[in-house]
Amino acid sequence: MAQNTTPTSQKEIVILGGSYGGVSTAHYLLKHVVPCLPNKGSYQVIIVSASSQAMCRPACPRALISDDMFPQEKLFVNIPKAFEQYPKDSFRFIHGTATELDHTNRTVSVSLEIGSTEKIDFYALVIATGASTPSPLLGLNRDDKFLRTNWTAFRKELPTAKSIVIAGGGPTGIEIAGELGEFLNGRAGWFSSKLANPKVHITVVSGDSRILPALRPAIAKKAEEYLAKVGVTIVKNARVKTVAPHGAGTDSATTKATLTLEDGKTLDADLYIPATGTRPNTSFIDKALLTADGRVENNASTLRVEKAGPRIYAVGDAASYARPAVHLILNAIPVLCANIKRDLLLASRKEKSSVGGDRLFKEDTRETQMVPIGKSKGVGAAMGYQLPSFLVWLIKGRDYWLWTTGSLWSGKHWAKES
Ligand SMILES: Cc1cc2nc3c(=O)[nH]c(=O)nc-3n(C[C@H](O)[C@H](O)[C@H](O)COP(=O)(O)OP(=O)(O)OC[C@H]3O[C@@H](n4cnc5c(N)ncnc54)[C@H](O)[C@@H]3O)c2cc1C
Repeated sequence: MAQNTTPTSQKEIVILGGSYGGVSTAHYLLKHVVPCLPNKGSYQVIIVSASSQAMCRPACPRALISDDMFPQEKLFVNIPKAFEQYPKDSFRFIHGTATELDHTNRTVSVSLEIGSTEKIDFYALVIATGASTPSPLLGLNRDDKFLRTNWTAFRKELPTAKSIVIAGGGPTGIEIAGELGEFLNGRAGWFSSKLANPKVHITVVSGDSRILPALRPAIAKKAEEYLAKVGVTIVKNARVKTVAPHGAGTDSATTKATLTLEDGKTLDADLYIPATGTRPNTSFIDKALLTADGRVENNASTLRVEKAGPRIYAVGDAASYARPAVHLILNAIPVLCANIKRDLLLASRKEKSSVGGDRLFKEDTRETQMVPIGKSKGVGAAMGYQLPSFLVWLIKGRDYWLWTTGSLWSGKHWAKES
């Protein structure tokens, strides 16, 4: 296989991952950091991403049903196109997967989409490779083609499915159940507490004694009521122990499965969707830099990966600084980029006194989560305040945040330094 190496005349600021963390960091650096550096023409911002498209990942629970659910040109946005606004040599997009980070020699190896490999010397590095889901229906586990292929196969089976099992009582599992329930079964009338004879039996298996553990119990109970109205049953205190055949729901989203729960009971599913959390995309990183759950261990205030060496940072679901959520990533970007700016200025021999101190991130830990249940209902809280169903619909349930992603991918969201 051919191996290219990048010329070392330029200082490469390499960002791994092209999603909420990576794309936002690149825009912010190109708008507010690189232009302020001495000899600014010597820097190049590079995004390396397995997918050339950024997507509104929270929309997956509804988007997986049909392409008619969202305007596809808003759901998927081409990353290189979004960066055409910057001077040509200041940005480069590399379509490929990082396969090895050598943090000591400061290189990252990339398996390129076109088949060859490239080893990049980096001057600064931001790890923003996010996390994958066990189900291939819920994000860019590989690229957009892989996601769409899995959606197509799943949609083909939907009209004939009689039973669907979803593992996981967190927001993703509940959102999928609500969307599929409403789409396949419809909604019970005002005076019925549940849908009597649902066309498709949809079951959520929750490992906990309740669903939606990040929200207070009264809100979770409301979600259960909404779910019952679209024909969804919840099995609590139960975990899927084995799946037969092996790989059903994970390697293939359409294989009929028999699920054995921890108590020995079995459930048959025409379609099985594991929504049991995510796995950080960090297999290419030295284990010494990772936490026990596989995330990159970064300083929760400065976002630097201190064990890795100078000018190495992490943000988003691949990093340990905060829980995985878009609003926390968006809060972290200005802090991350201010600290990158500081480090780059110091490395260019600016006086410490003229550069100022670190900027510090603090995770907002207030109860914040919105969970649409189908196209018109939802439950949730924001900054500790319970939200009525109408507001959850207005803010999230209408289009699963698609109203916000246009300005993120284009960089308009980051027009001002904040
Ligand atoms: C179904 C679902 C619904 C969600 N809903 C919400 C919500 O409503 N609100 C909310 O706040 N959060 C929500 N989240 C969480 C939110 O989507 C994540 O916090 C966010 O997507 C994380 O962004 P990220 O930039 O860290 O990486 P990701 O979005 O995980 O993307 C990582 C990117 O890196 C690429 N990549 C992976 N490995 C490599 C590699 N080795 N080399 C190069 N590129 C690589 C991937 O292809 C992908 O493009 C949801 C998550 C899921 C799965």
